[in-house]
Amino acid sequence: MDNTEVWKKVLTDLELNISRASYITWMRNTSLASKENGVAIVNVPSAFSKEWLENKFNKLILKFLRDACSEIKEVRYEISLSKHIPTPSIVLKKKYHTEEPAINEFQEKLLETSVDSKTNLHPRYTIESYVVGGSNQLAYAASQAVIKNPGMTYNPIFIYGGVGLGKTHLLQAIGNKIKEVQPNLNLLYISSERFTMEVINAIRDKTIDKLKDEYTKKDLLIIDDIQFISGKEKTQEEFFHIFNFLYDRNKQIIISSDRQPKALPLLEERLRSRFEGGMIADIGSPDFEMRMVILKNKAQEKKIQLEEEIFTFLAMNIQKNIRELEGALNIIQAKYSNQEEITLAQIKKSFNDLIKSPKKAISLKQIIKSVCDFYDIEDNTLLQKNRRKEVSMARQIIMYFLREELRYSYPYIGQKLGGRDHTTAIHAYKKIKKEIENDINLEEEINLIKQKIYS
Ligand code: ADP
Ligand code: MG
Repeated sequence: MDNTEVWKKVLTDLELNISRASYITWMRNTSLASKENGVAIVNVPSAFSKEWLENKFNKLILKFLRDACSEIKEVRYEISLSKHIPTPSIVLKKKYHTEEPAINEFQEKLLETSVDSKTNLHPRYTIESYVVGGSNQLAYAASQAVIKNPGMTYNPIFIYGGVGLGKTHLLQAIGNKIKEVQPNLNLLYISSERFTMEVINAIRDKTIDKLKDEYTKKDLLIIDDIQFISGKEKTQEEFFHIFNFLYDRNKQIIISSDRQPKALPLLEERLRSRFEGGMIADIGSPDFEMRMVILKNKAQEKKIQLEEEIFTFLAMNIQKNIRELEGALNIIQAKYSNQEEITLAQIKKSFNDLIKSPKKAISLKQIIKSVCDFYDIEDNTLLQKNRRKEVSMARQIIMYFLREELRYSYPYIGQKLGGRDHTTAIHAYKKIKKEIENDINLEEEINLIKQKIYS
């Protein structure tokens, strides 16, 4: 077995043996650099992860390495910023993805079944059914400009926003409209994950020229969820060439991402500056009025009749994302389809857990448990004078959450974490808050932990 295969096998074993969060946090962007003279060199992305793997996972990693390749007697970890092997992180992203709401899977299935195989466009997503409000006005205006004049107004357009806010819908809608107006154009919609997979396969099959050839024939290229090419150098390189080729010929490129270009980690500078060279538009969370319109439109589509007070109730309580609004209607449809009239009381009962204010429901205990689970540490070590970096980091994160989520006073936070001084709590809170702003990985960890706390 070569190094890539060995490491892939080790990662699979690890995935089955450690917590999901640990796996995502610590095993991403690792690779096996060499295994000579019984010493395996594992590349890791940072000093922090090096320390962590050495202290927490060394035994396990060595065991699985030896299972895969019995000559290995020792493991060393080396920091390497540039050498990421793409395959494992694709596996990761995939898995990670399945943790999103079931409705998303449903949506993807739907996308697969009636999608136009030449363009990957699904007729369901139209610009006419796209509701416009303050939160997506700019993105919508940019899209209209592109529809009128592909390649001539803004190129590329880069649309970013959180999960379920309508990026895919808008991208697909632009594609569908252009296809309708100019049926002869050669269009393609693709997610960056699929693009990455194609690049990997083409490299393996030595058909990369053919791949490039196909892509450079496009008149319009739509790439969804570009964040997944972070850290995948070869894919970025190929994409860069395709991008330039199309751009130079005034072919329209449309990109979406879950965050703005400057916040994308491990993205080559030259790509970043290309992304920033066109129009950047964000999509935010919809306001109340927009949520009402979306609910009413979708209910009509699904032929569900609801009283005004039910719409109001749903729009008031489901605030964050449009996919959830739609999900609520799907639940109502499934549950009450054979009932003539649906009452507000029934709806309230059905959505009881969905709408409970999460801030009230969580406790100190849950925060401690979630953080400890996430970092795989025992909660009693937190209260001791343990200065191991991993423990003190976890402690600081707990302090941060106690302040941020529960609004505890600093003296109380100090007291709850082994009788520490209030200045320690202040320091911890400020430190973590600042680090989150500068470190996208930490930000992601904090978000994952937060999801756990509230789940
Ligand atoms: P994202 O790609 O940003 O995660 P999607 O485009 O998949 O979000 O949107 C999630 C669901 O919400 C889809 O079913 C989509 O049709 C719907 N949706 C999102 N934004 C709008 C909008 N402005 N108007 C109508 N439907 C929307
Ligand atoms: Mg999407």
